[in-house]
Amino acid sequence: MDAPLNVAATWVGTADLGPGWRSVVWVQGCPFSCPGCMSPDWIPPAPARPATPAELSAELLADPAVDGLTFSGGEPMQQAGGLAEVARLARRARPGLSVVCFTGHRLERLRAHPPTPGVPRLLAEVDVLVDGPYVQGRDDGRGLRGSANQRVHHLTGRLSGSGYDFENRHRTAEIAVGGREAFLIGVPPPDLLTVFDTAVDRSGRATAWSTP
Ligand code: SF4
Repeated sequence: MDAPLNVAATWVGTADLGPGWRSVVWVQGCPFSCPGCMSPDWIPPAPARPATPAELSAELLADPAVDGLTFSGGEPMQQAGGLAEVARLARRARPGLSVVCFTGHRLERLRAHPPTPGVPRLLAEVDVLVDGPYVQGRDDGRGLRGSANQRVHHLTGRLSGSGYDFENRHRTAEIAVGGREAFLIGVPPPDLLTVFDTAVDRSGRATAWSTP
């Protein structure tokens, strides 16, 4: 049985992190330190919110319209076994669900030297993997990836005919506000991030955003 996941944040229902209507898990903890990382609060492997795969799966499917999950962070491969179980349980409840996952690792490295034992199980559940570290100087403002060095791998055919242009789509993001916290969901154009940072400096606190 997998240990509880260490969850930085979740969101139920967005069109900004992959095709369709998706729920998102951002995990806490990342072994990389990409300059310009847009979620630095989620790099330390500090205790955040513990949640079992069954709890997370149920939470992410709370909206009956959700037809996909997106795993981000932080580094999903650090908690691969738990996320694989989340995907498995969610698919059992909602067949046809798609899974998109971001990682700072390269796919070849994940296959040759998995950083955690659950990596093969997670890769077996993922339909689209966006891989590689974020490189600030190669952020071209396009696509569902933070920088042009990152690659989009269709590990299954589930989303390859979706018409969703992972590499070149116009970026979109949404800002959710609750109390004095603002939450940025998506891979935003660089100028939007500057506006967001300025706004939260004035009026509140940014708690999260999605991994590029
Ligand atoms: S950009 Fe992603 S891979 Fe790089 S440090 Fe930030 S969370 Fe980790």
